[in-house]
Amino acid sequence: MDLQIRCPRCGAFVEAEKVFCVRCGHRVIPLTVYDLSVDDFVYPPDREGLESLKQFKFAFPVINALLVERYVKEVLRWLSKNASRIDFSSKLGSIIRESALILGLRSLPPSYIAASDKPNAFTFGSTKQRYLVITSKLLDLLSEDEVKAVIGHELGHIKCEHVAYHTLAEILMRGMEFSSRILGAGLELLSPMFRLMLLSWHRESEISADRASLLVAGDLRIVESALRKLEKYYGEGGGPVESLFEVFSTHPIHPNRIKMLREYYRSSEYSRAVEKIRRRLSYAKALTPRCRYCGAVKKITDLFCPVCGRSQI
Ligand SMILES: [Zn+2]
Ligand SMILES: [Zn+2]
Ligand SMILES: [Zn+2]
Repeated sequence: MDLQIRCPRCGAFVEAEKVFCVRCGHRVIPLTVYDLSVDDFVYPPDREGLESLKQFKFAFPVINALLVERYVKEVLRWLSKNASRIDFSSKLGSIIRESALILGLRSLPPSYIAASDKPNAFTFGSTKQRYLVITSKLLDLLSEDEVKAVIGHELGHIKCEHVAYHTLAEILMRGMEFSSRILGAGLELLSPMFRLMLLSWHRESEISADRASLLVAGDLRIVESALRKLEKYYGEGGGPVESLFEVFSTHPIHPNRIKMLREYYRSSEYSRAVEKIRRRLSYAKALTPRCRYCGAVKKITDLFCPVCGRSQI
């Protein structure tokens, strides 16, 4: 029996196993201990860098309101003319849902396909709301499995709470002049120290997202072939000129990206995360608020019904 749950946000009926509302993206089954946590896969230098950035806790809410939220509005305005919303019940939508379930996201980000001749995918947003954008060219260039790997990378940024900081880095890279013209004053609130930390952390954050990509794709070869196709398109980095450029870039290519991913692939940490994901997916029918046989109310994490005693797995 498929258990239906009413989405508290939009009122749609959702199959409990789907976890996310296919209409609005709200998570109808809360996160449990069985879901993947950031600690299960984060690259430690990413975590440390982000912790340091969070020390600037007085400046950031102001920056978020003054700069990030206004920038987000600009991007959304652009998307309203150049992109179409991805329906979560479509094929691509189901890939986003599956990836979000694997990574244990709190909700599905509103997602768009933007018309573009460049293969690209990115997340942007403030601390309040995050968005995912995939370009039409990316969908042409990559296979379905590779698209899933790229989505895993992007949702990894959401899971690890990178997005508001990445968006801020993007604003900084577009330059003071642009920023103050479009967004007004506010950048002065960011000390040079903060900016430097933001940029050096940015490349470390890519490693965590690559790990998320691997966990979602479930196959190192898929992630590597996606990276190679994109690298071929944009040209390989790593030389001295590129290294200098990287420091100032918001899309830094880590020279050792594939090497680090291979190391992670061989680690016990990776095996543990894979096992946790496998278990979470096999418990999909059990982690529900009601028994799927007798309908009795139960705790989400009860694997046996407290009334009829039947196993939910
Ligand atoms: Zn909903
Ligand atoms: Zn990234
Ligand atoms: Zn029961």
